[in-house]
Amino acid sequence: MKLPSCVPMDNHSIISIIVCCYDEAHILPEFHHRLMLVLNALPVAYEVVYVNDGSQDGSDQLLEQFCRAPKVRCLNLSRNFGKESAMSAGIDHAMGDAVLFIDADLQDPPELIPAMVRHWLAGYDIVNMQRSDRRSDTAGKRLSAQLYYKLMNLLVDKYPVPPDVSDFRLIGTAPLNALRNMPERATLMKGLVNWLGFRTIEIPYQRARRKAGESKWSPMALVDLAMEGVLAFSRKPLRWFSVLSLATLLLTGTYLMHQWFVDAFSVDHLILGALALVLVGVAMVGEYIGAALVEVKRRPLYFLRSTFGGFSRQLQAPPALESDEQERIR
Ligand code: UDP
Ligand code: MG
Repeated sequence: MKLPSCVPMDNHSIISIIVCCYDEAHILPEFHHRLMLVLNALPVAYEVVYVNDGSQDGSDQLLEQFCRAPKVRCLNLSRNFGKESAMSAGIDHAMGDAVLFIDADLQDPPELIPAMVRHWLAGYDIVNMQRSDRRSDTAGKRLSAQLYYKLMNLLVDKYPVPPDVSDFRLIGTAPLNALRNMPERATLMKGLVNWLGFRTIEIPYQRARRKAGESKWSPMALVDLAMEGVLAFSRKPLRWFSVLSLATLLLTGTYLMHQWFVDAFSVDHLILGALALVLVGVAMVGEYIGAALVEVKRRPLYFLRSTFGGFSRQLQAPPALESDEQERIR
């Protein structure tokens, strides 16, 4: 993979590693250990921001312990708000020049972080990790993911969600500022990030199986996520119903005229069909009004219950990049 030749970041850049976790106590110690091993060898300074999304399994105590180390801190949300809101909390409180999202369940190997950082230092604004296959998923998850991407790319207007790109991603300074300036509440992070544009690269990776615990995504939660994405990024369904209603009007008119002339006027079936169509259309309009209501209310995406740890912008400066390291990132 050829990297661009410019190196716009200096080696005083700071990267914020954001880890959203919800009931991951059984895996957090191993995750944290592996993460710190990797971070301590990074060519840039870092901070780790854990976002505890209302865990009930004692994750708090573990996170409090981790936060005794410098450069590690934790935001405890007041309840479980869902991963998308937890990610927004991370973005709002991160102090770095870039943020990097990684799941706590070790499905995203922390050992890939240096490669992502190298691409950022080499000039990419967004580094997306893209699953090379879905062997680590159950058959049900594979099917629902396939359906999800098909549906999204069919329904979403101009910025389809790139397939198999997870939330394991680095977002550089410019897109990070852009995200922070987006006024909207609805957050489908991968949709938003893709919509932003900027210089983006996808790096293939093998996603590991979950080390312990279970996925928090039920099929219904995935349907919810897909619906949020469609409502936030597309007016296509509304347009389809405009076209359909026009077609129905024309057909009805033609049919009624025909029946009138042959003297066999019966509109029962026609009414049934039209009613079903209207019901779906009204439901769809209702969904959009609901989504608009959420935006209008401007209700916060999350509340903080407490925080652990502290940090300052004077994080330890990393050692200067060796010239061969400079060479390598070119
Ligand atoms: N997660 C979260 N809040 C939620 C659900 C999940 O912070 O409401 C975190 C979870 O702890 C994990 C990451 O998001 O670190 C991915 O969740 P999960 O493994 O359940 O998703 P999957 O990998 O199955 O897509
Ligand atoms: Mg997972």
